[in-house]
Formats: sequence, C-alpha cells, structure tokens
Amino acid sequence: MSPFLIDAHSHINFSAYKDDAPEVIRRAEDGAVWMFVVGSQIDTSRRAVEYAEQYEHIWAVVGLHPIHLVDTFVDKHEVGEEQEGVAFRTRREVFDADAYRILAAHPKTVGIGECGMDFYHIPEGMNVATVQREQEDAFRAQIALARELGLPLVVHVRDGAPTPSHSPSQREGEDKSGDAHEETIRILGGAYDAWDGVRPRGLIHCYSGTWNQAERYLAMGFNISFTGVITFTPTKKQRPIQEELWRVVRNVPLDRFHVETDCPYLTPEPHRGGRNEPAYVRHVAEKVAELRACPLQDIARASVENTMRMFWKMQS
Ligand SMILES: [Zn+2]
Ligand SMILES: [Zn+2]
Repeated sequence: MSPFLIDAHSHINFSAYKDDAPEVIRRAEDGAVWMFVVGSQIDTSRRAVEYAEQYEHIWAVVGLHPIHLVDTFVDKHEVGEEQEGVAFRTRREVFDADAYRILAAHPKTVGIGECGMDFYHIPEGMNVATVQREQEDAFRAQIALARELGLPLVVHVRDGAPTPSHSPSQREGEDKSGDAHEETIRILGGAYDAWDGVRPRGLIHCYSGTWNQAERYLAMGFNISFTGVITFTPTKKQRPIQEELWRVVRNVPLDRFHVETDCPYLTPEPHRGGRNEPAYVRHVAEKVAELRACPLQDIARASVENTMRMFWKMQS
C-alpha cells in the first residue's frame, strides 16, 4: 500500500498531543497520510523513535534544533505543562553525537534533524555572534553524523526579525545576523567541498527563502518543503514575501519538493487558529496544486515519491 500523502515534518512527539496522540494518528491513517516525527532535542528525538517503533506508518528524524543550544524560553506545546499557558525555560543541550548515533541507528530513523540556523529566537542579552557560532558548530556536527550514516538532513532555517528590543545598540556582532539562508547555504556549500564531491542531501523544511536561494539549495541536492504558510492570505505588508514564496511553489521542479505540517504550529487554512495535525497536510498539497494549476493527485503522488526517494531507509 502506498499513502495519499506523507507529512514530512510533524511534532506529534510534543506535549501538545500528550492527551490524544492516538486519535491524531488515527485521523491521519483515515486520510492515508503517513508521517515523519521530528525531534528537537534528545527527549523529543527519543519519543520520535518510540512512535516510529509503535506505528507502521510513522518514521523518525532525530536531531538538535538550534534554539535548544541556549537556555531558552519555549512554549508549553513543545516540552510540557508545568506552568499552564506560560512559556518556561529549558536548559541548553550540548550536541552529543554518541547519544544521537544510537537513535539514528534505529531501522525506522530515516534522517538527521531538525538542525540548522535560527536567528529569530536568540534571547535578549546574548552575544549574537557567539550564539550563531555555536549554532554553526552543532549544525556541522549533525552534517557530519548524517554523512557517517548516509542519512539525509532535515534543515531548519529562520531569519532574525528586527524588533525594538533587538536593537543593534544592545547587541554585539549584529552585522553577521542578517540572513540565515545565506549562512546555511555557505555552511552546506562548505560541507559539500569538504566531502570530496559526496553530496550532503536532505530537505529545507518550512521553506522561507527566496527563489534565488531555492535554486542554490536545489543545485546542492537539497529539496524544498512547504508548510501551511503557503495557504495564508497575506496582509498588504506581507504580500511581497508571500508572493516570493508562491513563486518558489510554482517554480520548484515536480521531483524536488515535499509537503509538511510542522504541527502543532503553522495550521493551514481553513483550520488556521486551531492546533495543527498531520491530516491537515492535505490542505498544503491542495494549495501547491492550486498554485501550479495541476491536479491534486499529481502533486500528491509526486510529493510521496520524492519523500520515499530522498529518505531511502523507508524502503528497507
Ligand atoms: Zn523548524
Ligand atoms: Zn519543526
């Protein structure tokens, strides 16, 4: 049996689903949706493998998200409910290749991630250049682990958003913080050179870059993955950014894209405002089909084939 769609990036391992994960999984199964469960640190990576072990149509991706490299406030949907409704602090994690290697060796772990660069969630008062250097080190360590195991990478990239509280006068090393995609392209490009022509592969999840950057990711062997963000109706101010994203959706080759939810976040229309779940990946695929003026069946089939081809361990 082959699925209608594969949600290439879900977090049903997060506490947002602690009460009803089995029902959420069943709704996906009802829609013939298979899913990847993606870790953000060691505990959620371990839980991703547990889900993959328990359910036939779930696969795990294990890795350390750049926001967990610093003491940080995260929302209760990810880690727990100690303080209901209030974000709380998590302790920083240092990437331990041995711990992740054990999880990655599991037959149903298909990729390494999510790892990458996040310039948005750098806490106030921290040295931006230092944090970015630590993100790069952890990213490189995970690129190396992926290479060692022959696994594709699931790459997270988020640009910084300048706000009044993040004014340059408060922060050192600000000059480097501009564009997380340019930094990611530089790091992946460097890894490519160092690998003597053996390509790092994988996907750029929740794509937010320009078409020009997408072309460079594609040239390096990385696919582009879309979330419910593509279903959003932009405000006038967001319009140019959304138009550029839609341009990427229209232009990416049919054999080089994936669809994902990134649930519990980024809930697509028409469910926007509620909690997201893997079954809703259908709305992402529908929007891709609409933007490309192409039947949903063709988009669904292509995205499933692309995911099975990239994440080769699904076959074994
Ligand atoms: Zn992410
Ligand atoms: Zn994610």
